[in-house]
Amino acid sequence: MSHLHTGSCLCGAVTFELAGEFKKFFLCHCSRCRKTSGTAHCANLFAPDATLSWLSGEDKLSFYHLEGTRFARTFCSVCGSNVPTDAKARGLVIVPAGCLDTDVDITPQAHIFMNSKGNWDNHLGDVPAFDEMPN
Ligand SMILES: [Zn+2]
Ligand SMILES: [Zn+2]
Repeated sequence: MSHLHTGSCLCGAVTFELAGEFKKFFLCHCSRCRKTSGTAHCANLFAPDATLSWLSGEDKLSFYHLEGTRFARTFCSVCGSNVPTDAKARGLVIVPAGCLDTDVDITPQAHIFMNSKGNWDNHLGDVPAFDEMPN
């Protein structure tokens, strides 16, 4: 039985449904993921043979493929949020974990491409944590 996941972009224009199972969950610290996310890493779920259906906002989708690489991303042209990329040639859907509105049933399996991480990306688990913006 396949699981049904739903998600959306920040402005709400783009919504989707994904039927399938997440098999891999990687935190990718490569320079491309750092650029596209603006932060330490992307958090990408990989769902082989999953079916991605756009429920709204398909006309708002933009697609970017970095020439000469497998790097591609799909994002909302209104708010810029990353949304799933249907990598048909690879037979899988790549889902940025942050765009999901449903719970994720697996936990991150690995940090990858640590050899290109930012120089400030060290021991982040040791940084003080607050429930909201501290004073
Ligand atoms: Zn949006
Ligand atoms: Zn990456």
